[in-house]
Amino acid sequence: MNQTIRVRFAPSPTGPLHIGGVRTALYNYLFARKQHGSMILRIEDTDQARFVQGAEQYITESLNWCGIEFDESPGKGGPYGPYRQSERRELYQQYSDQLIASGHAYYAFDTPEELEALRKEGEKRKQPFIYNILSRQHLRNSLNQSPQETQQLLDSGYPYVVRFRIPENTVITMDDLIRGKVQVHSDTIDDKVLFKSDGMPTYHLANIVDDHLMKISHVIRGEEWLPSLPLHLLLYQAFGWDPPLFAHLPLLLKPDGNGKLSKRDGDRLGFPVFPLQWEDPVTGEKSSGYKEAGYYPEAFINMLALLGWNPGTEQELFDMDGLIAAFDIGRVGKSGSKFDPDKAKWFNHQYLIRRSNAALSDEFLPLLRERNISAKPEYVAKVAGLLKERLQFVSDLWEEGSFFFQAPITYDEQVIKKRWKADTPTLMLDLATMLESLEAFEEEEIDSAVKSWIETKGYGMGAVMNALRLLLVGTSKGPHLASIMTLIGKAETLRRIRFGVTTIHT
Ligand code: GLU
Repeated sequence: MNQTIRVRFAPSPTGPLHIGGVRTALYNYLFARKQHGSMILRIEDTDQARFVQGAEQYITESLNWCGIEFDESPGKGGPYGPYRQSERRELYQQYSDQLIASGHAYYAFDTPEELEALRKEGEKRKQPFIYNILSRQHLRNSLNQSPQETQQLLDSGYPYVVRFRIPENTVITMDDLIRGKVQVHSDTIDDKVLFKSDGMPTYHLANIVDDHLMKISHVIRGEEWLPSLPLHLLLYQAFGWDPPLFAHLPLLLKPDGNGKLSKRDGDRLGFPVFPLQWEDPVTGEKSSGYKEAGYYPEAFINMLALLGWNPGTEQELFDMDGLIAAFDIGRVGKSGSKFDPDKAKWFNHQYLIRRSNAALSDEFLPLLRERNISAKPEYVAKVAGLLKERLQFVSDLWEEGSFFFQAPITYDEQVIKKRWKADTPTLMLDLATMLESLEAFEEEEIDSAVKSWIETKGYGMGAVMNALRLLLVGTSKGPHLASIMTLIGKAETLRRIRFGVTTIHT
């Protein structure tokens, strides 16, 4: 194991994990595994107001389903635990105190109402209010008070926040593994809150302290965190710590490319945006998941991996080991990737056709049982083998091949109109007699017998085959007729022909 490569996935349990989050976890995982480093799961649950019941469990179950494994996590423990920030809360205050003592942070006592008024005022003047070098000297904070005054307020239990003191008039240069060099002027950054009088750190402080204490070497996260990077680098500087390397991943965009793929897009546009189904614990609202929609985790992961990264070759199909071997953070693009729901289905189809017929049978049998149909696994496997090229999901097997399990009782009206002529019944009964006489009821024998029967009688191939298909399937769809007859067997074939002839009336 390479002790120096340590990455983390650090979700906040504020709801279900969106596929963008899964992709972030995946890239971290691929990066770590490729270099034999460690992959850490850290739950960032310091924001009590946004905490959602069940979200952490959902995150763990989702990543588990995807095959993304952790070396250290809340469940597994590890040398740098605990891995849930709420269980580390005692730890953060000393770092906040340290920054105050070194002059990098200060106490601010402005009330939320006062700040809101300033914000409104700023909006009116079209000069957005920011708490920074320009405004901080007029506000209620320890920089403008005597130490005694500040101490008195603290002693009296007056609510406060600790703010980072952004250094004035400096250019912060950041190096991102994906974006290269990015520069920001410090006067555009606000004095972010690091710690609150309820004893809780904010994301920024807890995240930096934990990345440092957990010896994280590379921070790989979504682009939405890029604006926080200058602050994070300044925090490292203020503590006198070496920062990790950073890589900010491009956004996942809506299928039309117009904006970030959001939690709301999924069911609105007809595809899931969550790995697993999620039920909101408060509203009871359900959002669909890839797993329940019938996706294989391998297909889901393969599809996600290629949304933002490319291997530099034409290869599209990768299993997890293949992804680990091919992954290179340098090949992650800068611009957003459009999510393509059809491509997602294409990936599932690719994985489906590569599965063994026996595996497909195992997956389809429970769906048959739900319909109160019992069938032999070997039979279902043969059906699956015959139909798999037509399937995107195992559940499509019913739509494509219900007639393998249930004889038609109704017949497609359009097909009847087009294919059922006055002499068709006699012709079909004749055909049944011929089929009955066949010794071996196997695909090749059936094929050649039917062919020579048609030739001898001088019938049209189309007329016979289309009517026969209607009798066996009920519609005009389905695979090769001789394959169908072989599978359902001689007795059932004859039964369907004779039943249909008495049932269909034009
Ligand atoms: N808790 C943050 C999130 O929910 C983590 C961001 C980071 O990786 O620094 O995305």
